[in-house]
Amino acid sequence: MDLKNKKVLVVGLGRSGLSAARFLREQGARVTVSDSRSAAALAKDIPALLDSGIMVEAGGHGLLTFRRQDLIVVSPGVPLDTPEVKQVRALSLPVIGELELASRFLSGHVIAITGSNGKTTTTTLVGQIVEAAGLPTQVGGNIGLPVIELIKFDTPETWDVLEVSSFQLETVDTFRPHIAAVLNLTPDHLDRHHTFAAYAAAKKRITENQTSEDFLVLNAEDKETQMFAARTKAQIFWFSSRRPVKQGAFAHGESIVWLPQEGGKAEPVLPISEIPLKGLHNLENVLAAVTIAKLAGVSSEVIRATVATFKAVEHRLEHVATLSGVEYYNDSKATNVDATMKALASFPKGIHLILGGKDKESDYSQLAPLLLERVKVVYTIGSAAEKIEHQLAESAKTVMIESSGTMDVAVASAREHAVSGDVVLLAPACSSFDQFENYEHRGRVFRQLVLKT
Ligand code: ADP
Repeated sequence: MDLKNKKVLVVGLGRSGLSAARFLREQGARVTVSDSRSAAALAKDIPALLDSGIMVEAGGHGLLTFRRQDLIVVSPGVPLDTPEVKQVRALSLPVIGELELASRFLSGHVIAITGSNGKTTTTTLVGQIVEAAGLPTQVGGNIGLPVIELIKFDTPETWDVLEVSSFQLETVDTFRPHIAAVLNLTPDHLDRHHTFAAYAAAKKRITENQTSEDFLVLNAEDKETQMFAARTKAQIFWFSSRRPVKQGAFAHGESIVWLPQEGGKAEPVLPISEIPLKGLHNLENVLAAVTIAKLAGVSSEVIRATVATFKAVEHRLEHVATLSGVEYYNDSKATNVDATMKALASFPKGIHLILGGKDKESDYSQLAPLLLERVKVVYTIGSAAEKIEHQLAESAKTVMIESSGTMDVAVASAREHAVSGDVVLLAPACSSFDQFENYEHRGRVFRQLVLKT
């Protein structure tokens, strides 16, 4: 792709937008960035951009700026129904995302991992396994480095392990991962995608350009991802926590086994008891990682040794402390109802659940069966509290609900109520932006409150 002297607009000056603008400039493009935030809010980045010859439009988008371009690169944070983006798409101007742009310049083997939940955990684990096998490895995407940043050190031998979100997949065109994985699909981000069908359609684009030389890894226990099998040209490998699969990885008795092909001989990879992460959902993440690693040619010994020493990624069902016999877990990244259900399913009973934040048009009544079975008290926080209380009052009548409002009140109250053997769990099923900068900030505040004596 020749970008020399091309007029390119980068919409949205987040981390990946910044990387994209710099990269495009290095390629000789005439780059403008446009962001709806004010010049004051962008002040930190503007001087360096101007110095490198990048034009900046702040405080809103001008339709003329958009129409003048040869190519438009939209950041994942910018909805495609932003009026200016919509208009230029209607004019058939090429609109792509940073993932698409970067992938046109990557020369390594691309592994792309998506799903509603478990992406970061699985991507991190796959990265560590591939690296432990001695293969040149880079990890990026929705996690850590923007994909654009991987281009610099990429070689045809490199394994590029990418976490990709539905927002990134929405704007791909030629993106073709050698190994793609879809972990699961449950309603999330409906505030942006509007319908589940639109959300699923975005995810499906992960396999759109794959051929029979590529692999698609799917969760045999997830109905929605099973549907992906019908419309792919890639070779399908399955993983299952429950039953044998045609080809792929599955839990069999006490072990994870790998079946390289239909009718082939299953090979034990690791004992399930060696997985240091809690919960059935993490067994699923490990199974996905085993499948991907096997397809990348990694030995069972390396996989086993890496899994055994793998630590929960921060804010993902992360153990914070045991105080007076009460366990405290930070699952701040449980930003949707399904992730919260998985967190609840990881503890048999005695849970004090901190729930709430900014609503994503979710249905909290789905939590009712697990709440009734395992939860002693629900502490609601944030702007979604009222909706949650209302829905639970109907669906989970006998569960005790306390309106805590803020995290400090919730933690103090949970500490007061919990007795030895109980679990205090932050798994809020909501995003964090009403009271915190992001989920990391929310998790850190929780941790500090727990550790404060
Ligand atoms: P993602 O990057 O997709 O958001 P993470 O690994 O960061 O995934 O985990 C996000 C949340 O989902 C955490 O609360 C975690 O405990 C939970 N989770 C992790 N893996 C799964 C899974 N396979 N299914 C459902 N929930 C999961």
